[in-house]
Amino acid sequence: MVYLDNAATTRVSEKALEAMRDLMRGSWGNASSVHGMGLAAKGEVERARKMIGDGLRVAPERIVFTSGATEANNAALNHYAIEGERAGKRHIVVSAIEHPSVFEMCWHLKETRDFEFSVVDPMSDGTVRSEDVINEIRNDTCLVCVMAVNNETGAVQPSKELALLCEERSIPYHCDATQAVGHMEFGEGLEWASFSFSAHKFHGGKGVGALVLPSRTYRFNKLLHGGPQEDCRRSGTENVEGIVGMTVALWESSTNEFYLSEISNLKRLLWNGLEKRVGGVVLNAMLDGSVPHILNVSFDWGKGDVLVQMLSEVFGIYCSTGSACCAGESEPSHVLKSMGLSDERSLSAVRFSLSRFNTVEEIEYVIKSVLKCKNSLTF
Ligand code: PMP
Repeated sequence: MVYLDNAATTRVSEKALEAMRDLMRGSWGNASSVHGMGLAAKGEVERARKMIGDGLRVAPERIVFTSGATEANNAALNHYAIEGERAGKRHIVVSAIEHPSVFEMCWHLKETRDFEFSVVDPMSDGTVRSEDVINEIRNDTCLVCVMAVNNETGAVQPSKELALLCEERSIPYHCDATQAVGHMEFGEGLEWASFSFSAHKFHGGKGVGALVLPSRTYRFNKLLHGGPQEDCRRSGTENVEGIVGMTVALWESSTNEFYLSEISNLKRLLWNGLEKRVGGVVLNAMLDGSVPHILNVSFDWGKGDVLVQMLSEVFGIYCSTGSACCAGESEPSHVLKSMGLSDERSLSAVRFSLSRFNTVEEIEYVIKSVLKCKNSLTF
């Protein structure tokens, strides 16, 4: 089996697994309990907060642990919407390439609380221009929301620049950094912004992530109500094991330049092989303007879903299409469509997403297998 769907989720690293297992076996107290075991668990959570803060170069008190990026994005948008309503502002600027955890929340705010949102398309290389975003700001704009890295194309967005431009205009900026954290330097220069991430995208466990609040958040309108956990910013018993595993995984991933350049080399190897030895393939984002772990391409000789299925069933290679599947029917991806790609090209997209656990031999096998698929689909 060759796993090339790391943008969907990743294998838990051995060190993260070990850390989580140790806690589950030994120090499994509730971080809110006042006895020794509770205090030990609380200590683990606070140590994790400090380490994540150090890794991302953000003050630890800005970090609110959540159940993942979906919750973090929902919580952020909910917070800014409430602040906006207080100020009589109900307009959001959002990019066309956002994840459903942002987009669906915008629709929810529109349908239930009378919000409006303006959608900014990316350019044909998958990147959103800051200028186009800023041009959509109105007097009643309460939030700008543009992700850091797109999960389908890997295209890196101008987050730092947007944070600066929004700060100059005193407009809140939220950034879904789920495909950036653990895969590139991220966090510095975003004091004005809030951002979200999720452990299972960088070899931590599923169901744990965080929302990093802007430096000057005096009041946070929380999404989950209940106990006073997370400094009264997110109720619910802390997922101590998940939080500690996420911390170990983050330190392993993002501080290791060797991993990042290895993954980058594998991606280049895969692209070169597809272009030179398979053919009939185009890139759906710039090779250098995208994160090392995501390669999105379209083939002019076959549909993406057919190829993905064939690669899985015949060759044991797991990757995905760039399009969402609704009730068994393939819809062209909203991300690729917004870049101006035709339905045909969008429907022939395949996303290969790599990790440090992939090898040169695996990439060679993938190239040969895609060529075999081409030969059997075109003859
Ligand atoms: N945003 C992006 C860009 C993602 O890729 C994902 C995961 N598919 C999410 C948010 C949601 O993350 P989670 O699985 O932690 O809810």
